[in-house]
Amino acid sequence: MFSMQTVRSPSSKTRCRKALDRLVEAGLRRTDFRRKLFALLVESEPYALSVEEIRNHPLAERPDAVTVYRNVEALMRIGLLDCVTDEKGRSRYRLNETQGPQLKIACRDCHATLVHSSPMLPELESVARALGYTGLNSRWEITGYCEDCAEKRS
Ligand SMILES: [Zn+2]
Repeated sequence: MFSMQTVRSPSSKTRCRKALDRLVEAGLRRTDFRRKLFALLVESEPYALSVEEIRNHPLAERPDAVTVYRNVEALMRIGLLDCVTDEKGRSRYRLNETQGPQLKIACRDCHATLVHSSPMLPELESVARALGYTGLNSRWEITGYCEDCAEKRS
C-alpha cells in the first residue's frame, strides 16, 4: 500500500536537504538536532512519531525533552512539521512537504500516515472563498485502520 509512494518520492537525502532549505527560508537555523530530526522522521515513514519516540530514536542520540518540544513547536509554526493526534490524545509528528491543501489519512493502531492532495480539496476550499475568506490554510484528517491493522483485528 505504501510502496507506490516510496518509489515515486525523491531520496531521503534530497528530502532532508529541502527541509533544511525551508528552515533557512523561514529564518531558522540549521542545527545539528534539526538535521537529525528530519532524518529520523523520514526514516520512520509512514509512521508519525511521538516526542517520546523521537527521544528514543537511535538517530536522535537522547536529546532532552525540552529540546524536542521546543524544536517541534518551532517547526510546526513554520509548517515544516505536521501533527496528528492519536487515539490516546498524544501528538505525533511527521515531516510536512506539501504546501497546498492536504488530506491526511492516519491509522489509529500503527499511526501510519499518508498524505493526499486530492483534487476535491481546492473545491472544498472554494466554499470558504465564496464566503469571503482569504489566506486559507486547510488540513483534513481521516483516521481508521490500515489494511495490515484491519487484518490483525479481524
Ligand atoms: Zn495500521
